[in-house]
Amino acid sequence: MNGVSAIVEIENLAAAFPAADGTQQRVLDGVNLRVEEGQTVAVVGESGSGKSMTALALLGLLPPPARVLGGRLRLGGVDIRSAPEHELQGLRGRLAGLVQQDPAAAFDPVRRLWPQVSEAATRHRVVRTRTERRALAERLLAEVGLDDPEGLAGAFAHQLSGGQRQRAAIAAALSAGPRLLVADEPTSALDSVSQAAVLHLLARLRDGRGLALLLITHDLRLAAGVAEHIVILHAGETVERGPRPEVLDRPAHPYTGGLLAGHVAPRDGGSDGDGPTRTACGFAPRCPRVMARCREARPALAPLEDRRDVRCFLWSDATEPSRD
Ligand code: ADP
Ligand code: MG
Repeated sequence: MNGVSAIVEIENLAAAFPAADGTQQRVLDGVNLRVEEGQTVAVVGESGSGKSMTALALLGLLPPPARVLGGRLRLGGVDIRSAPEHELQGLRGRLAGLVQQDPAAAFDPVRRLWPQVSEAATRHRVVRTRTERRALAERLLAEVGLDDPEGLAGAFAHQLSGGQRQRAAIAAALSAGPRLLVADEPTSALDSVSQAAVLHLLARLRDGRGLALLLITHDLRLAAGVAEHIVILHAGETVERGPRPEVLDRPAHPYTGGLLAGHVAPRDGGSDGDGPTRTACGFAPRCPRVMARCREARPALAPLEDRRDVRCFLWSDATEPSRD
């Protein structure tokens, strides 16, 4: 690891939902991810690859009965797995703001926007009086590029367009002045014009506030526009990560290559997420370059070059030690 301090450190994260038969259905099994202060990192993977679960685990917000089974999970140097709930509450909003995937769920439909936009700041006592809270909400709504912030502050979420609501959700995530913004598919529900505008907004906020940005998306091309570092997730594990130019210009993992080319074989619907940790490459059933070995052992995430890691036997013989 280099000497720059990390705001997010996730190593070998495993998480599961208990299944009805008493086994654990692993949804994450080997997620590795690091975000340095002020850095923009994109987590890219198709639907169901574990992106949202990773983001939620990072903030100690996995939906019950899901739970973390193993690995290292640090946010701002705090061990999320052992931190008491009050310490987690101290981090949420204040150290890291989260824009959740479902824009409709971001706001309570029967409350006006301003107390919701300023909620984290209120909770963390950044603002105290009603006047301060409303003024902060209006400032934030203006900062995210919304016209008529005074009017919108008193509005209800359903009165906003999808793009306006996403901007308001970003404003709410920033209200207590976090150092990290986690944005989970922030543009997926929007038309292409609003998508570009929201991405531009995220880049502007990052630069203006000196934020670290963890951008979660299924769209590698979108990630390419803003991220310095790219983490590719497939079926609950990091299969490749590295600086954007290297990953995009010389993708190492066949899955990354497939994403870039715009074609990856469909998933076979198999249940390789079930039971204990996997014993073969999770991409083997779909891989155009699969070898016998890929079905017999599980590759480890191994260094390929400076700051780049790949989990693939085409590049390294390293296998994942069995944990069961
Ligand atoms: P992504 O955000 O990359 O689309 P998620 O992190 O939401 O993926 O989900 C990862 C995996 O966890 C998926 O296979 C999904 O089916 C599974 N999962 C999510 N929520 C639940 C749940 N409540 N019960 C069981 N499995 C779930
Ligand atoms: Mg998701």
